[in-house]
Amino acid sequence: MNRENKRKIFEKGYYKTHACRDTFVCKVCGRTVIPENAGSDHRNHCPNCLSSLHVDIDPGDRASDCGGIMEPVAVWVRKGGEWAIIHRCKRCGVLHSNRVAADDNPMKLMSIAMKPLCEPPFPIERIEELTACMASDGRIR
Ligand SMILES: [Zn+2]
Ligand SMILES: [Zn+2]
Repeated sequence: MNRENKRKIFEKGYYKTHACRDTFVCKVCGRTVIPENAGSDHRNHCPNCLSSLHVDIDPGDRASDCGGIMEPVAVWVRKGGEWAIIHRCKRCGVLHSNRVAADDNPMKLMSIAMKPLCEPPFPIERIEELTACMASDGRIR
């Protein structure tokens, strides 16, 4: 099946009706991951360490032959307040966004969300000084 046909199937909602129900052993933390408890049919990452594998090009298509470990590098908030995880492939650097599952490790999610705040790209003790030199339009004078 060529890429063009594949895309057509997925556009018609293939993935919505074909659940991904594989049990797998997490290559990063060794946990056996079962599809139950995810609260969705789209389990694609480990609920314990939140890592994933680079096996898809489009979600669920298993079309990538990279196979690298997808590291959770960030979280972002979707419309309606739902959290999603940004995964980055350690091998090829591609970025994917994935919905969080109901049983994802909440502490791990929080620690990913907090990380940029814990490691700011400027000295944290200068924050007062930086705030003081900002104009009312938010720009640094
Ligand atoms: Zn894991
Ligand atoms: Zn990759």
